[in-house]
Amino acid sequence: MRFHLFTLFPEMFAGPLDVSILKRAKRAGVIEIAIHDIREGATDRHRTVDDTPYGGGAGMVMMAPPIVTAVETALGPDLATTPIIVLSPSGRRFTQAMARRLAASPSLALICGHYEGIDDRVTDILHAEEVSIGDFVLSGGELAAMVIVDTVSRLVPRVIDAASLVEESHGSGLVEYPHYTRPAVYREHAVPDVLLSGHHGEIARWRREMSLRRTAQRRPDLLAQATLTEAERALAASVAADAASDDSSSPENDGQQST
Ligand code: SAH
Repeated sequence: MRFHLFTLFPEMFAGPLDVSILKRAKRAGVIEIAIHDIREGATDRHRTVDDTPYGGGAGMVMMAPPIVTAVETALGPDLATTPIIVLSPSGRRFTQAMARRLAASPSLALICGHYEGIDDRVTDILHAEEVSIGDFVLSGGELAAMVIVDTVSRLVPRVIDAASLVEESHGSGLVEYPHYTRPAVYREHAVPDVLLSGHHGEIARWRREMSLRRTAQRRPDLLAQATLTEAERALAASVAADAASDDSSSPENDGQQST
């Protein structure tokens, strides 16, 4: 799989993509990451890439021509077959399901915005899709692009052990169960007995229940889409109801809730 990243700040990508799993995948030739400087697409003497917004207002907007030129030049014959993503806080939310879809493509292009964002025509001209990594505003699209490259890469066959992908968070619509490793007791906190029992059936049941409870407590919004038995749905509903009535410590409340 080949990733093409378009940015005004290529130096931001040094480091995060050069360690651990991504480093190994690049070495093995399973993924390839090409970083393109949008400034290369600028044609004037000053290599201008941004300008003030039409209609007025604060900040600068990244101009369409340098970006379109940079993308067309870099992708060449692959332009028509490469999904192109424009990182934007107003885009469709990035999810594990989207990552799975993208991992099936042989190439992917990601365009990083900065300042106030990117001239809207870039999305139309390149038949791109705007994607957001969450409901918050970053100062640039580079970190968001790295999030997507990382998430998609680990789903590309042979990047990590396929067994690790079977049960993880968001796979089946639930978040994952908790993990523990040695020592069995640490600062008086013991690992749950069942995990030391060697009883695979009970361990699997416990993990499923923990996964369900955690989802109900922390991410009840996911439950509607999850595939659950009747009994699991009932348990999830009661855990979610308890969690909702005991919510005063939730960071979402910012300490604003009156008691
Ligand atoms: N004025 C814009 C914010 C621009 S932030 C607005 O209010 O929508 C600058 C750049 O950071 C964006 O162009 C985008 O590429 C990136 N960015 C910021 N938040 C992001 C998010 N949640 N997901 C993906 N990209 C984001």
